[in-house]
Amino acid sequence: MQQFRIGMGHDIHALVEGRALWLGGVKIPFELGLQGHSDADALIHAIMDAMLGALALGDIGQLFPDTDPAFKGIASLKLLEVVRAKVAEAGYRIGNLDCMIHCEVPKIAPHRAAIINTLAGALRLEQNQVSLKAGTNEGFDAIGKRQAIACHAIVLLVKD
Ligand code: MG
Repeated sequence: MQQFRIGMGHDIHALVEGRALWLGGVKIPFELGLQGHSDADALIHAIMDAMLGALALGDIGQLFPDTDPAFKGIASLKLLEVVRAKVAEAGYRIGNLDCMIHCEVPKIAPHRAAIINTLAGALRLEQNQVSLKAGTNEGFDAIGKRQAIACHAIVLLVKD
């Protein structure tokens, strides 16, 4: 078994009316939300894909198909627990997690601490093992035009 494994994840969801905005397991007060089969938490989706990728276990589309009614409207935090358990089962733990949210709106800074706290709690990590950065897309593309939010995550797994 290798001592270290690294994985990356990316996700993007459309920003639409009539949906709640969930990012990193935190409900962010905003007039728009992300469209999707689950709660559409793009940050948690990117994190799960990074964790699965680190172990070459496929992706969340395979694990939680969006054609399965069981996952309709489901809290992504619940799915994250399934992936966390898979990592533990494989004999690894997270060394650190680095995440990025790309969005024009809303401002992420006021919610940063809550998101880090929620992710650290869900993944049973210290807060200093979880990094969250955010940036705008300078008006470019769908993100810049406030039509979507994208997230990236990189995770390092360490053999237990
Ligand atoms: Mg997604």
